[in-house]
Amino acid sequence: MAFMLSYTPPLRDVGFALDVIGLDELIARPAFSHVDRETIDALIAEFGRLMADSWGDLNESGDREGVAVDSATGTVRVPAGFREAYQQYVAGGWGAVGAPLEHGGGGFPHTVALVLGEMMGSANMALGLCPMLTQAAIEALGHAGTAEQQTRYLDKLITGEWSGTMNLTEPDAGSDVGALRTRAVPQPDGTWRITGQKIYITWGEHEMADNIVHLVLARRDGAPPGTKGISCFIVPKYLVNADGSLGARNDVRVVSTEHKMGIHASPTCVMAYGDGGEGAVGELIGEIDGGMRTMFIMMNNARLAVGQEGAAVGERAYQLAFDHAMTRVQGRTITGAMTIIGHPDVARMLMLMRCQLDAARLLVFLNARAIDESRHLDGDAKRIAQERADLYTPLTKAWVTDLGVELASLGVQVFGGMGFCEDTGAAQLYRDIRIAPIYEGTNGIQAMDLIGRKLAMRDGAVVAELLADIRATCDVLGAAQRFSLRDYAASLRESVTTVEQATKWMSDTARSNIADAGAGSVAYLQALATVVGGWLLGRQALLAVERLAGADTADESDREYLEAKIASTVAFGALVLPTVASCAAQATTGAAAVMSVPHHALASR
Ligand SMILES: Cc1cc2nc3c(=O)[nH]c(=O)nc-3n(C[C@H](O)[C@H](O)[C@H](O)COP(=O)(O)OP(=O)(O)OC[C@H]3O[C@@H](n4cnc5c(N)ncnc54)[C@H](O)[C@@H]3O)c2cc1C
Repeated sequence: MAFMLSYTPPLRDVGFALDVIGLDELIARPAFSHVDRETIDALIAEFGRLMADSWGDLNESGDREGVAVDSATGTVRVPAGFREAYQQYVAGGWGAVGAPLEHGGGGFPHTVALVLGEMMGSANMALGLCPMLTQAAIEALGHAGTAEQQTRYLDKLITGEWSGTMNLTEPDAGSDVGALRTRAVPQPDGTWRITGQKIYITWGEHEMADNIVHLVLARRDGAPPGTKGISCFIVPKYLVNADGSLGARNDVRVVSTEHKMGIHASPTCVMAYGDGGEGAVGELIGEIDGGMRTMFIMMNNARLAVGQEGAAVGERAYQLAFDHAMTRVQGRTITGAMTIIGHPDVARMLMLMRCQLDAARLLVFLNARAIDESRHLDGDAKRIAQERADLYTPLTKAWVTDLGVELASLGVQVFGGMGFCEDTGAAQLYRDIRIAPIYEGTNGIQAMDLIGRKLAMRDGAVVAELLADIRATCDVLGAAQRFSLRDYAASLRESVTTVEQATKWMSDTARSNIADAGAGSVAYLQALATVVGGWLLGRQALLAVERLAGADTADESDREYLEAKIASTVAFGALVLPTVASCAAQATTGAAAVMSVPHHALASR
């Protein structure tokens, strides 16, 4: 049996999602007077072609081939075709799409750059991680770098000629970044010498780009303990001369790469800084001891991008599962043999994938739009957009990555036994996406961020305003002519009330009993994110209804498409919104259920 391993860019779905979150309203602002929707759509379609034709076809071979350290050259050997595929991305200028005009970028909204990010993640998640981390480095340099540092590094990172990495993790400093030991010593010439070991560094070494700009967290002697005493340094693989040309090799090297469950084609490197002698040469970026602020700029960008991987891989899993369900014959009806999509349980799985994928993509785009507005609006509107972006980020990172795993798992299930075999591609997607809930701050850490910092924003008003917006959409849905949407409005409204109560409990408890709040934090995040997803699907249905009533839907396939979008919303109401009540119940149960006996009593042997 031949399986469809190719990737098809979901242009219609992406365009519709951009309409739901209001891209046209965003680009009508003066900051985007140089872009228009037609150009954006053409750009997305063109990028989609590159992803389908080049990157997508290397996904499976990259997984099989993997990466390895070449001890003779001290670099990492990447799978066949990866270097060329990356060069196509560089030659097309794709890395520059969302970069500022003054640095030679396209000045497109971040939302548009994220659409490209989704396609990269769908086509080839392992390769896409290289530009993803470069984008995060660009963000950090753009915000925290001096003019001189920006001149030295930014343009080459934007073109993709150089790539970027993010170096936080050490053997004894994972989630607890404040425990890191990498040492930074100031030099008379203003540079620093960096010594230490970093682990799990994504694309830490390779030769697809001419230089690698490592952003490294380290501690100076005498710095305050914990995260308050961490500084951030630019440590290039090759030192950069005053005229911008490449100089000597810096004292940074790859020690080994990890053997992983998935993303085999992405080198996850153990990196040694300064083990050749005096230390690797680094430049401070941002303030001394203020490295976490710089890294947070990078991490917030990366958190949204990692969240998006859930939607990206979910899309690819859905494409595979859908094609299989439409063609795999198993069972009979009275009229003859049937394909498995005719079985109600397979239809349920596909619909669950469909509606959660729609919600996931919408949340990513909404989050990106809030970031765009936080950059381009003024006054109160700017502040409110920033607050929304801050609130959405842990939801996107955690909920969408969990959904990515669920979608990939459902994809395996739709294939039956073949899903468990590697030939279909479904198993690879499941292995690849499993990392997303772990890196970039585990989803447990995201949930703690939500209940600790985000709920407290403006004394709870930020989340209260979000829930009020969702209620306003319920009012519109409640007045719809379709019974199914009125029912949906009622379920969503009930879910909002449930989450509102859980939010009050969580906000109060987070101040008084962190164990009780922490034990319920992940379930609370799921409840809130599900309601936000439900809100966005409500808006999706309203847009579909509006278009169905419009004059431009004479085309039968358009009508079917819009009806399917409404069906996706209704399915979310039936299959997913009911989980809000159980998540909220778990969220507010306290720590006794999980921490009442001494830890050792839980041993199984
Ligand atoms: C493939 C891959 C690529 C990576 N890429 C990079 C990279 O490019 N750069 C980089 O710096 N790092 C990278 N990492 C590291 C990654 O970010 C860490 O693995 C992650 O932050 C978790 O840290 P840890 O592995 O030490 O787990 P731990 O911190 O030991 O966590 C173990 C468990 O304890 C939980 N936990 C720990 N502390 C808390 C807490 N305070 N509250 C609630 N729960 C908690 C976690 O949620 C988790 O379930 C990568 C890792 C992998 C596997």
